[in-house]
Amino acid sequence: MRMTLSQVVGRLIGVRPHRMDPGGGPDRVPRPATAVVVGGGIAGMSAAVVLAERGVQVTVLEAAPTLGGRLGAWPETLADGSSQVNEHGFHAFFRQYYNWRNILRRIDPALRFLRPVPGYPVLSARWPTEEFGRLPPAPPANLLTLLARSPSVRLRDLRGMDRDAALPLLAYHPVRTYAEFDRVTAEELLTSLRLPDRARAMLFEVFSHSFFNHEAEMSAAELIAQFHFYLLGNPEGLAFDCPDEDYATAIWAPLARHVERHGGRVLTGVAATGLGRDPAGWRVATAERAYRAGHVVLAVDPPALAALVAASPTLADAAPQLVAAMPAYGRPGPPYAVARYWCDGDVRPDRAIFSGVSRQPTLDSVTLYHRLEHESRRWAERTGGSVIELHAYACEPGVPATELAERMRAELTELWPEAGRLRVRELHARVEAKAPAFAVGSHARRPGVRTDADGLYLAGDGIRTDFPSALMERAAATGILAANHILRSAGAAAEPLFSVRPRGLLARR
Ligand SMILES: Cc1cc2nc3c(=O)[nH]c(=O)nc-3n(C[C@H](O)[C@H](O)[C@H](O)COP(=O)(O)OP(=O)(O)OC[C@H]3O[C@@H](n4cnc5c(N)ncnc54)[C@H](O)[C@@H]3O)c2cc1C
Repeated sequence: MRMTLSQVVGRLIGVRPHRMDPGGGPDRVPRPATAVVVGGGIAGMSAAVVLAERGVQVTVLEAAPTLGGRLGAWPETLADGSSQVNEHGFHAFFRQYYNWRNILRRIDPALRFLRPVPGYPVLSARWPTEEFGRLPPAPPANLLTLLARSPSVRLRDLRGMDRDAALPLLAYHPVRTYAEFDRVTAEELLTSLRLPDRARAMLFEVFSHSFFNHEAEMSAAELIAQFHFYLLGNPEGLAFDCPDEDYATAIWAPLARHVERHGGRVLTGVAATGLGRDPAGWRVATAERAYRAGHVVLAVDPPALAALVAASPTLADAAPQLVAAMPAYGRPGPPYAVARYWCDGDVRPDRAIFSGVSRQPTLDSVTLYHRLEHESRRWAERTGGSVIELHAYACEPGVPATELAERMRAELTELWPEAGRLRVRELHARVEAKAPAFAVGSHARRPGVRTDADGLYLAGDGIRTDFPSALMERAAATGILAANHILRSAGAAAEPLFSVRPRGLLARR
């Protein structure tokens, strides 16, 4: 693909994909090797793909009836009798998700199922819309263009800003950033910039909300790391893609087939209830039977990991550091809510497929599914209706899902008045808390992929990486890292692993 001028300039200053693990070695394990992967989300399936391809006999145990975890999808029947695949919610597949995309290339080498989503507007009830999607892809041009074009920030504001306080945002370093900022909240860091309220709301808050944590509780170091990962460290820009088919059809069915074609097993509806090690290796218990293997990857969400460790008393001897990390790690971030509405009628044709929302009490994003995925599109064409999904990324605990859904719908009406005139045919709403917390001071205790027990590894979007990564990409990267540890110990080729620029543009070596 041809590079843009901003990407050429970016490349000169090291903004390009970096190989963190070169991979390499014999193609397949020279002797029989076995692994159990607990959890069939992105992390677990990424590990399983790599292990199965290298000849490791891998078994995935997924507790839910369907694969995918927080990117899951499952069939549902609407009251009008139509069957729809409902999902865990809209996901943006950013282009610097190098490792996750490499896993997805196994099922579609050209990634044709991912379609560019035009634009990335941020809506506000008080201020004009900010557009993030049409910036030059690479830094520093993207940042300079954002500052020059943004209606939310004027030259006067930049002069009034505390530039020294802003420098750490450009100087992400995998060690120093955490040493200096992990004890500071994201809110304190943003306040120290002395930006006008509007610039803060439109440029920063919508971004920090996307990490499923409250600014007042989230580590400023994590905010700096994410600012680097999404804006200042990659040559791909803030534009993103999405599947045009539901996740079950586009991702999970083909990935499971891929693992099975390489000799792996993918079992759904099978929950691990505990694990332990004896002289013969690891033993993972389920309600029906135990699975034995030389290696185990625990690729479950933070509360599930803490529950599994608590249910495995022998880990106190085998992995005392892992056990000690669980009380803090297992406490998830605040609840998030997803509400999918099937309505009569549509919103205005010029409304974007996906919009971020700033400063509404509950609503953080809105997605027009009937303009995104085939099945929703077909339902809307048949009925003259629309399928609208609303998200809240960090909401008040203890509020029922339907109440949160109605709050979000009322807030949407303030932004898009015509949304208030749509008749709701059906609502499917959920609220849950499984996202990792990136609390102040949590970095030093955050578990990494390797545990203190031989042959036991962790993967997931809350697990520490030594290079910048987040959300789906962190889940995939840690899954591959776990697989690489196993492959190296079994004498087979590791999978190459990539990162955006590992340090900020102004970070000293
Ligand atoms: C509403 C919403 C929107 C999001 N939007 C984006 C986005 O736009 N971009 C982005 O990059 N990320 C987004 N994310 C985050 C993304 O979904 C996660 O980072 C990613 O899916 C995490 O994958 P994982 O494999 O680490 O964990 P999970 O997906 O949580 O997978 C863990 C799996 O383990 C299973 N499990 C748990 N306990 C057991 C057990 N005892 N035995 C067997 N199995 C078990 C669970 O059922 C689950 O399937 C979003 C998340 C949500 C909720």
